[in-house]
Parts: sequence; structure tokens; C-alpha cells
Amino acid sequence: MAALGGCGRVAAALLRRGPPPALAPGPRRHRYKEKWAATAPRIPSTRLALHHFDVNYSLHLKDLWPSVRIGLLCEQKYGALINNFSSADHVTQELELLNATDFVSEAPQKEKVAAVEETERGKSRSQEGSGEGRTVMQAEMMTQAEMSPPLRASIRSNIKCYTFPRGDITRFRPARPDILGLFDYYLLDAASLLPVLALNVQPGDCVLDLCAAPGGKTLALLQTGVCGHLAANDVSVSRTKRLCQVLRNYVPKEIRETVSVTSYDGRDWQQVEGGTFHKVLVDVPCTTDRHSVMENENNIFHKMRTKERQMLPMLQLQLLVAGILATKPGGEVVYSTCSLSPLQNEYVIERAAEIVETQFNISVQVEDLSPFRTLFQDTFSFFSECRLGELVLPHLTANFGPTYFCKLRRR
Ligand code: SAM
Repeated sequence: MAALGGCGRVAAALLRRGPPPALAPGPRRHRYKEKWAATAPRIPSTRLALHHFDVNYSLHLKDLWPSVRIGLLCEQKYGALINNFSSADHVTQELELLNATDFVSEAPQKEKVAAVEETERGKSRSQEGSGEGRTVMQAEMMTQAEMSPPLRASIRSNIKCYTFPRGDITRFRPARPDILGLFDYYLLDAASLLPVLALNVQPGDCVLDLCAAPGGKTLALLQTGVCGHLAANDVSVSRTKRLCQVLRNYVPKEIRETVSVTSYDGRDWQQVEGGTFHKVLVDVPCTTDRHSVMENENNIFHKMRTKERQMLPMLQLQLLVAGILATKPGGEVVYSTCSLSPLQNEYVIERAAEIVETQFNISVQVEDLSPFRTLFQDTFSFFSECRLGELVLPHLTANFGPTYFCKLRRR
């Protein structure tokens, strides 16, 4: 006993005496306590989500997290994707009268103006001294040359999406049908078009939208007017029906018939059609951060869905690998989520690149999408420290996103 020392002596004494009253077999009262616990009010899923994000995103986004958090908790902004198939020509004029602008077509113009202004400043400096000023023509040529080829091509696409300026929280009226019943625009988070622009569809491309429902991005892909063939797939039959409804509401029959809609598990796509697509969009299921902090219904942070949530990165990885395998050599894949989580974003990209290399001997290269940041900085708030790909952060003055997108080229 002497060897036990001070604490040991207390422990030995406690053992001799048996458990203290509080730990002794409970009185009958204890059973009622358990019953109370079972009926205690549940913590809402939105609160669980916010707590989870506070812990994780404050580490990832550091000083930016408080402002992103407010953005997530406030009303999001929308964009109006113009339906080029509808005959409502007046709609763009109507939107311009409201001070909305097409962020896709205005971006390169703004960049050109900025370059010209920079040149003018250089000229006046050179008149004062060194003589290194560029002409306006040179500035325009440089802007074109500095833009990466995919970027130049995608901003020449026919996609038009109107947004209200920074700080303007005007809402769009609901979409209206034209005389043939096709709606004039489709309301969506304008940042969700960036993955489609990054895909840079070229005339005649065979395109696969692996997780397509309810169809916002499928519709945007069709608005380019250049898809040779479009395959739109989603594992959920009910969501695929919504996708078909969107196509019926927005796309004329003859174009609709060129789209093949399927409901396969995207992870098995290789068994359906491997290595045949020029472009593949993998817009995966994720924690949908904005929804998770705002809506309790269908919330992935519900206690009953913990396992499903924890398995998301694995599902995302399998879908991205399937997307890469569906691509032809030289083809491109864009991976996207509406989450801020690096585990669902950059980590998935890195693991997928490793897996296709080691298991399928396919090498992929991550493309530089940083010009998107420069080009669309007036419309969106980008995270400047993304290791791979680009991330749009919610912000009170430009409350779009979160949208993560990253482009891979199959070598
Ligand atoms: N791209 C869509 C759009 O722009 O409207 C949104 C896609 S949503 C973020 C993710 C979709 O992935 C959901 O519709 C879900 O049903 C689908 N999904 C989940 N697991 C899947 C799987 N194993 N294969 C294919 N689709 C899947």
C-alpha cells in the first residue's frame, strides 16, 4: 500500500468503500431521466451545420470567415440566364433598363478598358520620362494575348447571364413563357455558370453532364448552341424528371431530342460509355453549404444523415474518377461543388489525379483558371488562396456562391 503514494491511497480508500453515492446503482428516478433525454428537443440541422462550418472554415478561410458567414446567412443573389431559344428579344432590354448587365460579355470589355487606361497612364508617364508607353492598339492586342485560349473562347460563347451590380439586391421577376411556351430566362446562382464557362465547349464537342439534375448547367451547356451531342445523367429518377421538365420549359423539341437523358449511377459510367467525350462536367453532390445553414428540410447535417455526409468526399472522388475515365485523351473535365470545404474540393482533385495515374495509367493536368478571377472580379468575390482551381466566396455585396471549380485535362 505504501507504494501507492498520495493519489494511490485515495483511490485504494475509495475502492474499499465502494462507489460514491452518485455512481452507485441509480434510484428509480434515473429511468425517468433517460426518458426525458429521449424527448429533449433536437438541435436543428442548420445550427449543427453552422457549428461545423465555424470550426472548420474559420481555420481554412481565417479572417475572411466572418464576412463569408454573414453572406451565407443572408439572402443570396441570382442571375438570369437568358434563354436563347425563346423569342423574347425584349427581355435583355428590359433587364438593361433595370441596370442589370450580362456579366459574361461585359467582363472582357471591362478588362480591355482597364488595359487601355493603364496604357494611357503609361503614355503620360513616358511623355514625362522614359518613353515606354504602349499604344491603345497594343494594349488591346495584349489583353487578347494575355487571356488563355480557353478563356478567350468561353467568353465568346453565347451564354448570357444578367446580374445586378455589386451592392444592388434587386430581385428578378419570375420567368415568363413566350408565345410558344418557352421561358425567357432561368434564375440561378450566377457563379454556378463559371464551371460551364470553364468547360469551354467547342463546336461539335460530345459533352457529358454526369450529375445533371435539376438541370441549370445542362441548360447553360445547351445555350452555347455548339454541343455536338449532350448526355445528361443523374442517379435520382425524381430529379431527372425535374431536369426533363426544365428541358421542356426552355428548349425546343428538335434540340431536346439531341440530348440523351439517363439515370445511371455516375460511378459506373465507364460501363456505359468510357473514353468517348470531349468535355465532361462533374457537378457533384456536396454539403451545399448555403442550403445547410438556411434550410432544415433535406439537410445533410441532419443527425440521421451523418454517415452519408461523412461519405461525401468518397462519392465525389468516385464520380470524378468516372468523369475522367469518360473523357477522350486530350479531353477536359470540370469538377465543381457548392461547398467551401477543401476536403470536398482540392483534396478530391488531388486524390482523383493520383488514382487515375496509379490504377489506370492516365495522367491529368490541372489547368490554370486564375484568369477567371481577373475577368470576373467585378461580379464575384474570389478566394485568392485556393491551391487548385477557383472558389467564389459569398459576400454581402456580391452574394453568390460558394462555387468551387477546377479543370483537368486528360493527357
Ligand atoms: N448540375 C446540377 C445543376 O446544375 O442543376 C446540380 C447537380 S447537384 C449539385 C448533384 C446531383 O448529383 C444531384 O442531382 C444528385 O441526384 C446527383 N447524384 C448523386 N449521386 C450521384 C451518382 N452516384 N451518380 C450520378 N448522379 C448523382
